[in-house]
Amino acid sequence: MEDCIFCKIANREVESTIVFEDEQAVAFKDLNPRAPYHFLIVPKAHIPTLNDMQAEQEPLLGHLFAVAVTLAVKFGFAQSGYRVVVNANRHGGQEVFHVHMHLLAGRQMSWPPG
Ligand code: AMP
Ligand code: ZN
Repeated sequence: MEDCIFCKIANREVESTIVFEDEQAVAFKDLNPRAPYHFLIVPKAHIPTLNDMQAEQEPLLGHLFAVAVTLAVKFGFAQSGYRVVVNANRHGGQEVFHVHMHLLAGRQMSWPPG
């Protein structure tokens, strides 16, 4: 996708701090961190929202969770805890229309979300 910022980050056309990459996904630091650790985990495939995921992409969704755990272990917050969030469309607060998982850690999270 030409004008997608997360495709550009995945293709290294736009600079970011990449913390993980494999053939299916890439993870990088959020530009506007909401917690001491705030990573975005994105599939390399351009998928606008969770609604656009196809049945054959379900393993990819599972993979994004596995990457979150890998990062939690790597950065040392697996035991203290973390939160994963996927925003979808307007009420979900989605601003970038390329599916991404937020991985937040390093402070106490509040519940319920606002
Ligand atoms: P969402 O509201 O779920 O769509 O989240 C989009 C997230 O992308 C926000 O937390 C932004 O801070 C983050 N973001 C937008 N542009 C960039 C960028 N170029 N590099 C890193 N994070 C970004
Ligand atoms: Zn994209």
